[in-house]
Amino acid sequence: MADTILVVVEQREGKLNRVSWETITAGQVIAAQTGWTLEAAVVGSNSGSGIAAIAAEVAAKKLAKVYAVESARLEPYTPDAFAYALQQLLEKHPAKLVLMPHTYQVRDFVPKLATALQTTAISDVIGFRSEAGKLLFTRQMFQGKFVADVSFAGNGPCFVTFQNGSYRADKVEAGAAAAPVETVNVEIPDGIIRNKPEEVFKEAKQAVDLTQAEIIVSVGRGIKEQKNIDLAKQLADALGGELAASRPICDNGWLPMDRQIGSSGQTVAPKLYLALGISGAIQHIVGMKGSRSIVAINKDSEAPIFEIADYAIVGNLFDIVPPLIEEVKKAKG
Ligand SMILES: Cc1cc2nc3c(=O)[nH]c(=O)nc-3n(C[C@H](O)[C@H](O)[C@H](O)COP(=O)(O)OP(=O)(O)OC[C@H]3O[C@@H](n4cnc5c(N)ncnc54)[C@H](O)[C@@H]3O)c2cc1C
Repeated sequence: MADTILVVVEQREGKLNRVSWETITAGQVIAAQTGWTLEAAVVGSNSGSGIAAIAAEVAAKKLAKVYAVESARLEPYTPDAFAYALQQLLEKHPAKLVLMPHTYQVRDFVPKLATALQTTAISDVIGFRSEAGKLLFTRQMFQGKFVADVSFAGNGPCFVTFQNGSYRADKVEAGAAAAPVETVNVEIPDGIIRNKPEEVFKEAKQAVDLTQAEIIVSVGRGIKEQKNIDLAKQLADALGGELAASRPICDNGWLPMDRQIGSSGQTVAPKLYLALGISGAIQHIVGMKGSRSIVAINKDSEAPIFEIADYAIVGNLFDIVPPLIEEVKKAKG
């Protein structure tokens, strides 16, 4: 019998995040290369988020089965309840590989779950390949200066978490017919949940979730002064995108911290990432290299950002951006 790959997707208030769809794509790629069976699981409660509807949405994709792991005690989220529920699921329906998005929530419970099952977790993975029948997962080390291929021993389940933007959500293959959905009611006895969840942290009103943005205009120190950020804002508005920045811009307080891209900021993967006056330090690149199309404007033709840019524009951004805004406006009518 073929081994099984299980993708555990993440929902909040009835909606899957994009990196969950990306993780399903990763699962489909691995399943195609290994010939293993691909399944998915949605965890939560029907009275809370209505996980049956999410399970049905996932079941439309190309996979063999979807489990709706249900208990009223799974919402609000606690690491104790999630680890306990997934352990029960995996005991009933063993999987060799369990793939998850590398979110804060998964980081919170996956070490506990892997330890409970005395197995391995490989975190923050950006790629996969199979070599002589061995599965190798790629993860970055030393702020992205090196990459390491990591494998696992034993029969699993091996937990693997995927970094935002490693695979493309829009590449998820639809199934020929809806996959069957099996509801797995889990028992979570009294005393299991030791955490007392507080209200879910909500960012300040103006905060933006850049991970969901399709177009990002990002500014670096080349913008020179705070007042010039308005130029980038005009370009972002014309394109219908969001404004982001390298760390020095946020450190200066020119833009709020939640707009910072990079190893100590957000990891994004928009369709278009426009870098204005950003040198391309490794700590910045690790946060945006998954972007589908990277356009960089920099006056230094040797700037490292050009090594990963799809379109390299060598020149002064103050000469290039104003006519670009006009052209975008014209094109949009
Ligand atoms: C532990 C740690 C964590 C870090 N985390 C992050 C992080 O999360 N995100 C992050 O971004 N950085 C991070 N950094 C900082 C990082 O190392 C770089 O210092 C930073 O990314 C540089 O920002 P920059 O590209 O805007 O500035 P610079 O490196 O100064 O580059 C400015 C660029 O603008 C160009 N330029 C200047 N004038 C113009 C002009 N008129 N037109 C066009 N181009 C022009 C220059 O040629 C240059 O390439 C971190 C550093 C450390 C040590």
